[in-house]
Amino acid sequence: MRKSLLFLATALFFSANALADVTINITRSLNYDAQKSRVSYKTINNIVRIFSWKIDFNKDLRKGDKFILVGNHGSAPKAIIYISGKKRIAVFSYIDKRGQLGYYDINGKTLYSSFLRAPLKYKRISSKFQYRRYHPILKTYRPHRAVDYAANHGTPVRTVANGIIKRREYIGALGNAIYISHGTNYVTVYAHLSKFAYGIRVGSKVKKGKVIGFVGSTGRSTGAHLHYELHYKNKRRNPLTWHLPKQKKVAKSDLKRFQNRARAILRNL
Ligand SMILES: [Zn+2]
Repeated sequence: MRKSLLFLATALFFSANALADVTINITRSLNYDAQKSRVSYKTINNIVRIFSWKIDFNKDLRKGDKFILVGNHGSAPKAIIYISGKKRIAVFSYIDKRGQLGYYDINGKTLYSSFLRAPLKYKRISSKFQYRRYHPILKTYRPHRAVDYAANHGTPVRTVANGIIKRREYIGALGNAIYISHGTNYVTVYAHLSKFAYGIRVGSKVKKGKVIGFVGSTGRSTGAHLHYELHYKNKRRNPLTWHLPKQKKVAKSDLKRFQNRARAILRNL
């Protein structure tokens, strides 16, 4: 009898604990501080995967920032909220029609955006993604794991998706080039730019469609064009055929309920 009561008490304690919010206070890094708060690796990975579209985990986190896991259910909390001195980014769990759990902002959209197929208005594709291409300057056959878009000098070049500027500098054969990371898996590269757009620097957060630079012919280039690369998991992929991510939205019929729930969570923080 006593044993079973003890068992009951323990079970209640743990189930109550499983529902309690967990706050990860950043003192060193998400990894370090989350482990100190006994947050599982799976949850840490989920946080990084979801928030990397908005946060550079190597540079942006400051002492005093926090992540709140609301209604902590192992790796599937009801909400995950990042709070820093300057901003708050909140996402809320939602199970879609296929039964898939995902995290969406208060507007019912995932933090990842859809991708544009091409980053500019171009005249024609002057070189496709290919493993063997005769190089007009080097006069040898080399792989060209990118797409070249011929366009007028000065044509605006846009980021294909929400992301964070990782590099923005003159890089040898690429000339003026920009590297943008989109979440944990994607990187896009824009090269031979005549110049960079105003305000675009390393660490800048950019939204899909934002002008980042202008077509030029800097570096190893024979005429005005944009050299564009799409990397997925550190490998170059064919931007013309790759199955690109699509932003997901909470179903219209669920949106009101979803937003009411999200607002209630934010009120109770
Ligand atoms: Zn190229």
